[in-house]
Amino acid sequence: MHGLMMQPAFSIAALIRNADRLHGRTEIVSRTIEGPIHRYNYRDAHARSRRLANALRALGVAPGDRVGTLAWNGFRHFEIYFAVSGMGAVCHTINPRLFPDQVAYIANHAADKVLFVELSFVPLVEALADRLVSVAKIVVMTDRAHMPATRLPGVLCYEEIVEAASDVFDWPALDESTASSLCYTSGTTGNPKGVLYSHRSTVIHSLASAMPDAFCLSARDTVLPVVPMFHVNAWGLPYSAPMVGAKLVFPGAALDGASLQALIAAEGVTFSAGVPTVWLGLLAHLRDSGKGIAPLRRVVIGGSAAPPAMVREFRERHDVTVLHAWGMTEMSPIGTVNTPKHGMDETPEAEYARQVRCGRPVFGVEMKIVGDGNENLPQDGVAFGELKVRGPCVCRSYFEEGVSSAHDADGWFATGDVATIDGDGYLQITDRSKDVIKSGGEWIGSIDLENIALGHPGVAEAAVVGVPHPRWDERPLLVVVRRKDAAVTRDELIRFYDGKVAKWWIPDDVVFVDALPHTATGKLLKMQLRQDFKDHRWTETR
Ligand code: AMP
Repeated sequence: MHGLMMQPAFSIAALIRNADRLHGRTEIVSRTIEGPIHRYNYRDAHARSRRLANALRALGVAPGDRVGTLAWNGFRHFEIYFAVSGMGAVCHTINPRLFPDQVAYIANHAADKVLFVELSFVPLVEALADRLVSVAKIVVMTDRAHMPATRLPGVLCYEEIVEAASDVFDWPALDESTASSLCYTSGTTGNPKGVLYSHRSTVIHSLASAMPDAFCLSARDTVLPVVPMFHVNAWGLPYSAPMVGAKLVFPGAALDGASLQALIAAEGVTFSAGVPTVWLGLLAHLRDSGKGIAPLRRVVIGGSAAPPAMVREFRERHDVTVLHAWGMTEMSPIGTVNTPKHGMDETPEAEYARQVRCGRPVFGVEMKIVGDGNENLPQDGVAFGELKVRGPCVCRSYFEEGVSSAHDADGWFATGDVATIDGDGYLQITDRSKDVIKSGGEWIGSIDLENIALGHPGVAEAAVVGVPHPRWDERPLLVVVRRKDAAVTRDELIRFYDGKVAKWWIPDDVVFVDALPHTATGKLLKMQLRQDFKDHRWTETR
C-alpha cells in the first residue's frame, strides 16, 4: 500500500524560488574581479537567473546539454548554477587550477556546449580554444565596459545577454533524478572522472548538510563560502544558503588572509568553510595584524585533515568553533561533520581530542571499514581499513566511464581512504590508501604525524611521506615549511614526537623547504614529494 502524501519532485529551481519568496530582501554580496563590491538580493538573483535561462535557450541550450564554467565564487556564477540546472541542463564547473591539458580534457569529455568564463581565465581559454571541440559559444562573465580585447571568435558579454532577455521563465517540472551538475575529481593519477549530481541528490545533500548537528545553517547566518564553486559546488553552500535564507558573501578571487578578514568584518560573516591552506593564510594574517574576525562563530574545515593546532587557535584566540568535516567529490561532498552527541559533557581538552576526528555521518550516509578481503572490520576506533560508503548523495558510477571498479555488487563505494570508526560512529581518516607509509610490514599513518608537527610553534606547514629505506622498505620523512622568523631544527622536531606516538612511527629525518606542492584542490601533492625525495639520504639508519 502506498502512502497518500503529495510527492512533488525535489528541484534546484525550488531553492532559489523559495529564497525569493521568503527571503527576497536578504543580500548576496560579491567581491568582483572588476574591483567593486557588488550587492543585490535573492529576488534580484532569481530574476536574473530566469533571464539567463531565457538567454541560454536562445543560444540553443537544450535539456541535458552541458554548460561549462571557469569562474570564482560570485553572483554571476551563482546565477549560472540556478539558470542552467533549473532549465534542465547540466552545470559543469571546471577547476581552473588544473593543468590546461586537464581543463581541455574535461571540457571535451563533458562535451560542453557553452562555456562561461570569468575575466581572469580568458587567457587560459584563449590558449586552449583550438582544442575545445564541442564549445559553440563562449560567454565572458562581465559587463560591456570590461569586455577584454580577445582573439576568441564570437564571444558574448554576460551582462548583455542577461539584460536583453526576458525575466519571464517558468522553471520546467523535471523528474527529480534529472542530472543537474557535473564535477570532475582531481585524482593525482589517470584522467579526471566526472561525478554527475541530480536535483534529488543536491536537495537531499542541502537538507542533510544544513542540519543542526552538521553546518547548523539558518536564515540569521551570513555565509562566506571560501571553498570554490568550481570544486564540488562549494560543498553545497550555494544551495543550502538559499534553502534556509542565509545572507551570502562571495570572496571572488581574493582568498588571502587580509581580504578574507576585511570581508568577514565588513559583512558580519557568521559561518565559513574552506580547506586548511586558506585558514593558514587567514590565521597568519590575524597574528601579524592583531585584527579580529568577529562575528564569525563557525568554520568548517575539510578537504584535508584539520590540524589540531588550527582548531585550538580558532577557539582560543577568536572564539570560533571548528567543524571538522570529511567528504569527497563523489559524495556531493559532505560525508561527516564533527559535532558532539547527547550526553557528551566535554572538558575543553576532550573537545579538542574529539575534533581531531572527522565526525559522524550526515543523514543518509552509511559507512563501514573493510580489510584486504573486503571483510567488515570492527568499529572500535582501533581497527583501520578501507572506508566504504553508500547513500542517496553518493555517486553510483562515473560520467561516461562504464562499469566502475570502485563500486561493489552491494552498492558500496570504495573511497580510497584508510580510516577508523569508533563506537560512537566518529570517523578518523588515517591516510589516503596510496599515501600510507609501509615500514617493516606495518602501516604508519601520515596524517597523525603531520598534525603533531603542526603543533610545534615553529612549523607553518608539514607533510610526511614514505621514502624508500634500505632496511625498512619505507620510512617517514617529515618535510616542513618553517613559520616566518622561526629557527626550529631537525633534532628539535624529531624530539617533539617523543611520547606522542609509538617510537617506530617517529620520522627518521626532516627536510626544510620554502613551500609545499598542492593539488588543484589545495591538498598536499604527496606524489610529487615522494618523487622529489625518493633518493633521500637518511642521516641515521635504524
Ligand atoms: P575531493 O574529492 O577533492 O573532495 O577529495 C576527497 C578526499 O579528500 C578524501 O577522499 C580524503 O582523502 C580527503 N579528505 C577530505 N576531507 C578530509 C579530512 N577531513 N581529513 C582527511 N582527509 C580528507
